[in-house]
Amino acid sequence: MSSFRDGTVTATADPTLESFLSQLAGLHKHLCPRQVLGVRMGMYAADLFSLKLPQRGKRLLAFVETDGCFADGIGIATGCSMGHRTMRLVDHGKIASTFVDTQTGRTQRCSASPDARMRAAACVPEAKSRWQAQLAAYQRMSREELFQVQEVVLSFDIHAIIAKPGLRTACSTCGEEIVNQREVLINGQPTCRNCAGDKYWTLPK
Ligand SMILES: [Zn+2]
Ligand SMILES: [Zn+2]
Repeated sequence: MSSFRDGTVTATADPTLESFLSQLAGLHKHLCPRQVLGVRMGMYAADLFSLKLPQRGKRLLAFVETDGCFADGIGIATGCSMGHRTMRLVDHGKIASTFVDTQTGRTQRCSASPDARMRAAACVPEAKSRWQAQLAAYQRMSREELFQVQEVVLSFDIHAIIAKPGLRTACSTCGEEIVNQREVLINGQPTCRNCAGDKYWTLPK
């Protein structure tokens, strides 16, 4: 049994799942359906690659496709984190994540089944709300009901993403430091992505 500060109590059949859900209580005031999906997806990924959880090294990488509670669930279960450079946000707004076993190169994308929400409602008809139904059902439903999994190929070189930590250069345009080989070369000069035109901010007009 795990008790959360808002009084949510859960009981799951899987002690590992239960322990991960308890750890989430330290991060969030509530346990929510998306956290549960994240934990279960992370556990699924580890099984696909036969890895023990949470991983201690940097063997497993996660490219999570949305931020928020879901990403925290994946982080708690897998040990992947931004701080360890084993989690990346690819913000496509999806309950999905691509996992890479960097030792074997195997790459699997896992996403929530489009009908998982409907099945959740049917799974816990006595629930007080759809939210409560999802919270309970996502802990009980089988992985096959919750997720779809596909072997995929990344559209970039994973070694370029892992890069050589500690390498640094300066942008030839703005002068700011760039680490981890994230520069692009323009006329042979190291340039930061913003100066190279891949902008996510501009100065106010
Ligand atoms: Zn939440
Ligand atoms: Zn620059």
